[in-house]
Amino acid sequence: MVKVLVIGIDCGSWNVIQPLVKEGKLPTIKKLMDSSVWGNLKSCEYYYTSPAWKCYSTGKNPGKLGAIGWWSFDKNDKSISLVSSRSFKSKELWDILGEHGLKCGIINMPLTFPPKCVNGVLVTGPPHPDEGCTYPPDLEKEIKQDGYRINPKFDLSIDKDKAISEIADLINKHFLLGEKLLKKSDFDFFQHVIFLTDPIQHHFWKHMEEGDPKYGNAIEDCWKLVDLRIGKLLDSVNGDCYTIIMSDHGATASKGAFRLNLWLNLRGYLHLRSHSFKNMTERVRIKLGFPYHMRFPLSLLGNILIKFGRAFFNINQQRSAREKIRSTQAQNILWKKTKVLSVDQDCMYITVDDNDLGFENELIDEIRNLRNPKSGEKVVRDVKRKEELFEGKYLHQLPDLIIIPEDGYTFMSTPLSGSAQNVWDFSRKGWSGTHSLNGIFMANGPAIKRGEKTDEATIYDLVPTILHIFGLPIPTDVDGRVLKEIFEENSELAKRPVIYEKRERKWQEAKEKKHRLSEEEQIAERLKNLGYM
Ligand SMILES: [Zn+2]
Repeated sequence: MVKVLVIGIDCGSWNVIQPLVKEGKLPTIKKLMDSSVWGNLKSCEYYYTSPAWKCYSTGKNPGKLGAIGWWSFDKNDKSISLVSSRSFKSKELWDILGEHGLKCGIINMPLTFPPKCVNGVLVTGPPHPDEGCTYPPDLEKEIKQDGYRINPKFDLSIDKDKAISEIADLINKHFLLGEKLLKKSDFDFFQHVIFLTDPIQHHFWKHMEEGDPKYGNAIEDCWKLVDLRIGKLLDSVNGDCYTIIMSDHGATASKGAFRLNLWLNLRGYLHLRSHSFKNMTERVRIKLGFPYHMRFPLSLLGNILIKFGRAFFNINQQRSAREKIRSTQAQNILWKKTKVLSVDQDCMYITVDDNDLGFENELIDEIRNLRNPKSGEKVVRDVKRKEELFEGKYLHQLPDLIIIPEDGYTFMSTPLSGSAQNVWDFSRKGWSGTHSLNGIFMANGPAIKRGEKTDEATIYDLVPTILHIFGLPIPTDVDGRVLKEIFEENSELAKRPVIYEKRERKWQEAKEKKHRLSEEEQIAERLKNLGYM
């Protein structure tokens, strides 16, 4: 019987791993590299956790899925809502495997909440709540008895020490669950995702770069732990197995964050019901053409007033839930005058029904030409319309414009609130590491080449490749291909023809046909099925 194990490492990047492997600090990964085909895994064109995990699990681009990022924006009712597993309209790998009677286990993958029925078990991943996190539902009680929790309680930018030790504890707990499930049941397909590598790298990159004596090893220690636990997880698999290690995107140093909504507001593309004092000072600076360093005297008074106000009203203690902040964001916008809004990083929605491409082209040009005010460096590789990057039935639900930044730059969608900010943030106080396009890929198994390098794999290729390993037909609408080059030339997997199936279309047609049937016909059909007609 064929078995496949996928180990997903969020934000896994050879930039970080390879130096540690060379120093002999990651023995399991070194052993895997020697016995695998390995290299870069190109993420989707919008290389964020959402939608990258879903692009992996469906083999499809976001236009066929219907969402990117953590938030979606409804142009009709001007509402902002949190993306969940229900936002992605496609079958995932485990749905297809389950239909063929194969038993699946899926642990900790982002965007799997609320959990759906699978032929096996599913434990949801971040950023959603810990409650109601399993399929079947009774599994939740069992795993929580072992202290299982998805999300860390401590904030990495505030309680660094507590957060680091909590993350190590949670990584151990997540792996222990994986090992326990693998030992308990015989899965055909098992997928274990480690998410906490992502926040550790975001927050401790600068400490790693600077060789900080206190936190400089936080990332290295995290990888050593992951390496150790991968070894133990592999030991828990019975018999021969195909192992794929992959990540949703890569990681790199952050050079600066750009507050996109604030800039849109200052440029007149986004209008608020009220303006704060500090925003006004930034507006004055931009309007009068003052250089960036002049922001300080202009906003100093604003800062003092805001800090005084916060201390007086104890605002810091009343931090709202993220959802509340986002709904307030929508309420604060003056929709009549607003043309553009960003609800997620590196992307924007055009909020007016306007075919005036003039303003769009002007906006695109302005963003393309943005430069780092300190170094003069170009910060944007390109700005693309969604139809230039993606295609599919749900394209209309995606943000209209996607910014592809130069490495290290992030366009933040921070909601505009009463407290004002500068457009650029070079402090690296929150994120000092950010995402990059290339994640990691390693494939190992009976018919897979050993110790060879490939840089041809994309995140869309893993579903077709795994279905091919199982000998199952591949839906025709996947965007990836079977990575035939990873198999030994004379192996059966290299020679076996790739089979495609119009499964998705048939499934959708059946669903649409059912929808068309009148209620009477449905009753008649049910009676017929029950043998009454
Ligand atoms: Zn990620």
